[in-house]
Amino acid sequence: MTPATVQAPSKKKTPSGARELPGAYTGKLLRVDLTKKKCWAESWGPDDMRELIGGVGLGAMILYRETATRGGKGNVSWDHPDNRLILATGPMAGLPAWGSSGLTVVTIGAGTNGPTSTQANGFFGTNLKYSGYDAIVVQGQSRDWVYLYINDDVVQLRDAKFLVGKDTWQTQDALHEATGLAGHQLSVYSIGPAGESLVRFAAIQGDYGHVASKNGCGAVMGRKKLKAVAIVRGTKSLRAADARGLVQAADDIGFDLRTDPSAKSLYEYGTLPGVVNLSRLGALPIKNYTTNVPSIDMSQWEAPKLREGFDHRGHQCSACGMHHCHMSVIRKGDHKGSIVDEPEYEGWSGAGWAIGAVSDVDGVAWLNTELDKACLDVNEFGWICGWVMECQEKGYITEAQLGFRLTWGDIKGAARLIQMISRRQGFGDLLAEGVKRAAEKLGSPAKDCAIYTERGAAPRGHDHRARWDEMLDTCTSGTGTLESGVPVHPTEVGQPARINTFDGEAVAKFIAGIRGRRNFEDSLGMCIFTTRTRLENLCRALNAATGWDVTVPETVRFGRRTAAILRVVSLRSGHTPDLERPSTRYGSTPVDGPAKGQAVGEQWEKMVDTWYREVGYDRKTGKPLPATLKALGLDWLARDLWGKKA
Ligand code: SF4
Repeated sequence: MTPATVQAPSKKKTPSGARELPGAYTGKLLRVDLTKKKCWAESWGPDDMRELIGGVGLGAMILYRETATRGGKGNVSWDHPDNRLILATGPMAGLPAWGSSGLTVVTIGAGTNGPTSTQANGFFGTNLKYSGYDAIVVQGQSRDWVYLYINDDVVQLRDAKFLVGKDTWQTQDALHEATGLAGHQLSVYSIGPAGESLVRFAAIQGDYGHVASKNGCGAVMGRKKLKAVAIVRGTKSLRAADARGLVQAADDIGFDLRTDPSAKSLYEYGTLPGVVNLSRLGALPIKNYTTNVPSIDMSQWEAPKLREGFDHRGHQCSACGMHHCHMSVIRKGDHKGSIVDEPEYEGWSGAGWAIGAVSDVDGVAWLNTELDKACLDVNEFGWICGWVMECQEKGYITEAQLGFRLTWGDIKGAARLIQMISRRQGFGDLLAEGVKRAAEKLGSPAKDCAIYTERGAAPRGHDHRARWDEMLDTCTSGTGTLESGVPVHPTEVGQPARINTFDGEAVAKFIAGIRGRRNFEDSLGMCIFTTRTRLENLCRALNAATGWDVTVPETVRFGRRTAAILRVVSLRSGHTPDLERPSTRYGSTPVDGPAKGQAVGEQWEKMVDTWYREVGYDRKTGKPLPATLKALGLDWLARDLWGKKA
């Protein structure tokens, strides 16, 4: 196959009257049409940058503008050539601040067949910006497997035959070998067998252990026959409008992360403390939500113990000083000597607690990396594997159906399930459709044990029956995952520091009140762990980088604008308000543990009503109300959505 090559112009034509670009931007989007095998650089200007920032802000607008059907009443499906796969950074990517190599993937995902926004880190953001692009926008579908190679102005769609069938780590190894580059010199994001097989919860995995995992974005990449994106660390420079101010703001953010009680443990141990902390709240999902009482001594799950148990070394992302992200060596058991990525909290949860594997930490760490290699979302895998285990125990799924016996905590069996799902073998073909579709196919009583939202999204790896804010956020979100939480310094946006987490009305007001911040963070090109500082600090960094004067209220307004745009794409995708609810098991009442008897189902309708009222959306149609849109400066969207009624 002849590679399609673009020699992007080193100097773009400046339209008459155009203003100088803000600092921190390259000013170019890399467009890739896989059907036509064409790549080209597209300029974008200061006004769009200020309005959309980058990341999910930019991605949401591209989805809105480019994926509509039926005159704006419908939307393309996830597997349509016109679906867009947007791999976006943001203004902070490539600059000297912690966590500034962020990748935000925005697309119509295969899980909900609606919009999604999901983040990862590593070296993607930095390498792309240094190559001269702020984002990649992929459209069309290739006939043959290709990978996208970027090396400054050389952009090529290359034959990926030699990569097909390889897992994500093997793919990265092969591309390093093919290019003679290693480590951060070449950032690789790819799909493994699950993405190739269009598994509806396939993820995009990169740089050995970083995962954009939500809503089947890996299946979108698979449908486009794009096996990988490989970006050589470019040689172009980035300009900060106020370099001294940027370094000062970045220093203050680092100080905050090291010392603020709300971020300190994250700085020291990443997300490891989550296991023990959440178990104390009844929010650690154990054995598919069948219990909230750990059957073992939890001291072995304390963060220092987890890290001490493995030989490890830091594997931090570009320019990041957090003590997070490690490569570990398995010390004992069947996989002794294997190198794995230290699991995040969600890895311990999805590859461990949710499936009843609570003692074999070596086995769980290994299984978690197997999921990354196959490119399966660890959260949804936890729900589906735990569900199969429970259904087998109860006789709802027979040994003959599955092909073997799978019991709680069976790591080998879970690994077998990964292979079956990733390659759609046997019963794995059904499971590859995701929890919701598999459960609906089998019907009750199996269906009643499955954890999902009625839209088809998989919850994050918590027991949300003890975190009603996250359940409400997951069910109403326009991104197929959390859109508003986790709350960071809520008082800064006028919300209380604490609420009664089992008071549905207070929870709904809180989630509506903090709405906006997260979309702002996900537009910066920064990691969500290094944005756990006050918005004021993030504004200082962004303003120093760009030369803008963004204020805290403006960040919230920006995030809510982005949420409204995603909501409209979501409605176009057929996500009506009646789907905004948890499945029977997801919305059930815990039978034991700290949240025993707390019945979210009894308050659900009131919670959703309150949320709608607070965010200013129409409860019946799900549409943002004209007044809400106008207050956000989205008059054009009000007209699109409401016509003359706007
Ligand atoms: S906090 Fe962790 S994931 Fe985030 S940028 Fe730093 S090392 Fe990477």
